[in-house]
Formats: sequence, C-alpha cells, structure tokens
Amino acid sequence: MSGDCCSKPQDSPENPSDVMTEACCELHPPQKCSSAKCPECGALGKTVRKITLGALLKPESRPRIPTQDEFCFCRTPTCDVVYFRPNEVLFRKDDLTVPVGLKEPDDPNAPVCYCYGWTPEKIRSEIKETGKSTAIDQIKAQVKAGNCYCEVTNPQGSCCLGNVSQAVKQVFMKK
Ligand SMILES: [Zn+2]
Repeated sequence: MSGDCCSKPQDSPENPSDVMTEACCELHPPQKCSSAKCPECGALGKTVRKITLGALLKPESRPRIPTQDEFCFCRTPTCDVVYFRPNEVLFRKDDLTVPVGLKEPDDPNAPVCYCYGWTPEKIRSEIKETGKSTAIDQIKAQVKAGNCYCEVTNPQGSCCLGNVSQAVKQVFMKK
C-alpha cells in the first residue's frame, strides 16, 4: 500500500507521524471531522457534505470547492472559519451567501432555522405576544411532513432544531 499516489519520501527525515497530517493527494479518504480540528480556533469540526457548500457558497467562491465529498464545519461562534479540512482553511464567513447564525450571536436577525426563517427576533416577538414559542413544534411538523431542507439551506448542513431550541431558551432567559 505504499507509494501508491504521489512521491512523498518514504523515509521522512522528521517525525514520521507528521506524514499523516499533510494530505498528499485526493485519493486519501477525508478525515472524519469528529477528529479534525479547525486550523484557526482548534475546535473539533462537524462533517458536512459537498452539496451544502455548493448550495451556500457565493458563485465566485464555488470554483474553489475541492473534489472531496466531505468537509468540516467550524462551530465556534467567534471563529471566522466556516469550512475546513485538516490543516487547511477552505472558506470563511465572507464566502457564503447567508449569515452563519451560529457565528452571529449578537445579530437577532441572523437565522437559526434556514428552512422556515426563524430568527432570535422572530422567536422573541412571538413570545412577547403570546407568552410561548411555537417554533420547535412548527419545524417538527414540517420535518415530519418530509419538508426539511437543512442540507442545502443551513450552513451546518444538518438539522437546526438544536440551534432553535437554544435560541428559544435564550429569549426566556432574557425575559
Ligand atoms: Zn474555527
């Protein structure tokens, strides 16, 4: 299984374990993001599929999407990096057509649910009017009806319910 894809020297003079940290070609399977750390903030990533990047990156950023099918999403609110691979920053907030709600904790109009447009502000105004939030129930009903598009609407590429329930909690805490 050695020397299959590219001419990386077999007897690396330095620490041999360093060899694995440097992706040498596209034939290597992508490292699972649960064990890959954001090159800038050091937090563990979360796996997203290529279709999410294709759907949410600006047209001018799209040509830079690498050929792999899996990438890592950085969840750190204060980190500018959105998508990365081990040891490589790929795309930052500016490369996306939508704000990354998770990374805009001070913006009440940054979406927490991208399919149905729930924002902290929308949740807050419903609670102010009615004393409760129907966001979770409404989203769950849509998911049950097969009407969930998080993979192509949400920069995290996955279900938003965790973020929504967090946002609802925060509104109640601030009351
Ligand atoms: Zn990060």
